[in-house]
Formats: sequence, C-alpha cells, structure tokens
Amino acid sequence: MLTRREFTRLAVAGAASQAVSPLLAQGGDRKVGYCIIGLGRISMDHFMPGTLTSRNSRVTGIVSGHREKALAQAAKYGVPESSIYSYENMDQFKNNPAIEAVYVALPNSMHAEYTIRSARAGKHVLCEKPMATTVADSMAMIKACKEANKKLMIAYRCHYEPTNLRAMQLIRDGKLGKIQAIESANGFKEKAGEWRLDRKLAGGGPLMDMGVYSLNACRYLTGEEPIDLKGYSSVIDHDGRFDTVEENLSWTMKFPSGVVASCNTSYGAQMNGFYRVHGSLGFLYAEPAFPYQGLHLTAQFTDPGGGKPTVLDEPNPDLDPSQFTLEANYFSDCILQDKTPKTAGEEGLLDMQYMSKIYESCGLPGL
Ligand code: NAD
Repeated sequence: MLTRREFTRLAVAGAASQAVSPLLAQGGDRKVGYCIIGLGRISMDHFMPGTLTSRNSRVTGIVSGHREKALAQAAKYGVPESSIYSYENMDQFKNNPAIEAVYVALPNSMHAEYTIRSARAGKHVLCEKPMATTVADSMAMIKACKEANKKLMIAYRCHYEPTNLRAMQLIRDGKLGKIQAIESANGFKEKAGEWRLDRKLAGGGPLMDMGVYSLNACRYLTGEEPIDLKGYSSVIDHDGRFDTVEENLSWTMKFPSGVVASCNTSYGAQMNGFYRVHGSLGFLYAEPAFPYQGLHLTAQFTDPGGGKPTVLDEPNPDLDPSQFTLEANYFSDCILQDKTPKTAGEEGLLDMQYMSKIYESCGLPGL
C-alpha cells in the first residue's frame, strides 16, 4: 500500500511523464499563453498566481472593464499594454499570437458569451464552473468550440488534485468493496450585495456555485451517471438575500448500481465541503475535499477475506503546487498534445442537465 506522500509523488511524476509535450521533450520551453477574462477573486488570487509555478502556462493577455486594475496586473505578470483588452474590443485578440487560450472567470451568466467569442477568435477556452446558466447556453458553447476546432475545458479543479485523485483510485481499486451510499455537502454564508445572489447573473443559488462540487464528486467517485434526482429547497433567512435564489438545497441522486447519494448545499451556513463514501468493505472520508488547501482523507477498510483493517489518515495541509497550477498544467498539456480534456464541455453540460432536474424537482424553474 502506498503512503499518501508516495502516491502524490507518483501521481505528479506520472502526470508529468504523460504530460511532456513533444516540444518540451525536445528541450523546448513552450508555454501556452492565456488571456484572463475577468479580474476577480478567482483569477487574481488563485489562477494567475498558479501560472507562475506552471511548467507550460503563462499569462499573456487581460480582458477587464477596469483599466487601472488591468494595468497593475499586467505589470505583475509581464503582459504588454497592447495585450490588455476591454469587454468591447476583446475580439481583436484574434490577431494576437501570444494569446492561445483564455481563462473565463466572470459571473456565470457571462460564461457563454465570452467562451463563444473567444472560440470564434481562435482561442482555446478554460471556463470556470458552473459552465453557464442554461443548458441551451452550455450546448452553444460546445458547438462554438467544435466549429472553431478549439478545446473547451470546464475548470473542475478537483479532477486534477491529489486528494480527490487518491479517493477515486481507492474506490476504483475496490478497496471499499461495493459502494452503498455517499453523503456530501458544500456551502458558505453569502453576504448581501454579491452577484451570486442575483439569479440573472448566477443562474441559481448555492446549487450552481457550491453544490456542483458535490454533484460532480458523486459522479467521479462512482464513475456512474445518476438516473433519478430529487431535491428540496428552502429559504430560512428572509432578509432579502434570497429573493431570487434558493438559500438551501438538499437533494438525493440514485445511480444505476443502486448507490444513493445525499447532498446538501447552502448560502446560509459555512459547510466544511466534504464527502463520505460508505462501501461494503469500509469507508472513506474526504473532509474537507473541496477547498483550495487543507484537504484531508481518512479511510478504513478490510480485505474481502477479513483480517485487520487498513487505516489511512492522509492530511494534505499545504498543496504545492497549487490546484490552479495543476489545472493549468493539465489544460496546456491538452492543447500542446492535442488531447481532449477529462472535464471537457460535455462534462459541464451533464452537471447543468442534472442541476436543471434537481431544480425542477424542487418546484423551481429548470435551467
Ligand atoms: P468575482 O466577483 O470576484 O469576480 C468577477 C469578475 O467579473 C470581476 O472581475 C468583475 O469585475 C467582473 N464582472 C464583469 N461584469 C460583471 C457584472 N455584471 N457583475 C459582477 N462582476 C462582473 O467572482 P469570482 O469569485 O472570481 O467568480 C468568478 C467565476 O469563477 C464564477 O463563475 C465562479 O463560479 C467561479 N469560481 C470558481 C472557483 C473554483 O474554485 N473553481 C472559485 C471561485 C469562483
């Protein structure tokens, strides 16, 4: 049995050896140039710093509505002033060869427009989750990228991160036996005035933003697609924050094997984004599983023949390189080696379709 540290080292080394592009293998130092669309928290605090430690990605352009902020970020990342665009003139980056890809980090309702415009300008697209605010927009994004022959990846960072990869591997290796049930939750307390509370910009409430991690995790942990989804939504705090989106949503999903997952999401409570997987030979907790740092996996399982249980306690207090470096490395490898990303647009679309069903089962409009 590998220790977690050994697994991480092997996973990173394995990913690196699979990942080396022909150009890099020949001693090239090619890095994919990304234009950052939207200078908010996720881009400035996480993705852009993540590129600094990436072996194959760098920031080469910025699209922003705030000139001063864009100039300051451009100076920090060595982006020339000529590669700063506004939302209006962004399409001109079609003629900028230093920009090969974009990172769309805007409010959810803007993902579709900026993905489609970027693809039409000849750029690959890494788009933040949730993919969009409607199923129709998600399909249009996939179509536009296909027509332009450009790659589309949804930024589901947990697919590229060692603790979640370790959980997937333990389950695929059969260590937990037959999975019988999963519990998961993810949420936080949202402040008044945020775009996330405006249905027009967010598409929905915590399900779209935080619940999507639990939904996606149940799919990557089981390797199955849910066949039945049922939910309840509620508003407990009638203080104006939840006039257009739900405050809480709890749902269940049944998978073809019979596994039922029970999930909770909230904008009214700080949740320690986690999952717990219960199998016939033992259990696995990733608690927390979804934050940027401090992930922690524990597990206990026995061999099918019985005997002393194996006990795992694998904290990951300080993920280095960061999840954003790993995600950027992965997408750039897909571009450099012409591979389809694991979390392509179709993966985002499935979650959109499932979230739509969950909303409808709560008596709310679908997506
Ligand atoms: P944010 O509010 O910090 O940033 C949003 C950016 O969009 C800002 O630069 C803002 O100026 C710009 N913007 C343009 N038009 C706007 C408008 N009409 N209203 C509000 N902002 C507008 O948001 P964020 O937390 O960085 O989230 C951006 C996207 O990233 C969302 O889709 C979110 O779901 C996703 N996200 C992903 C993760 C992750 O871990 N993968 C974490 C946080 C956010």
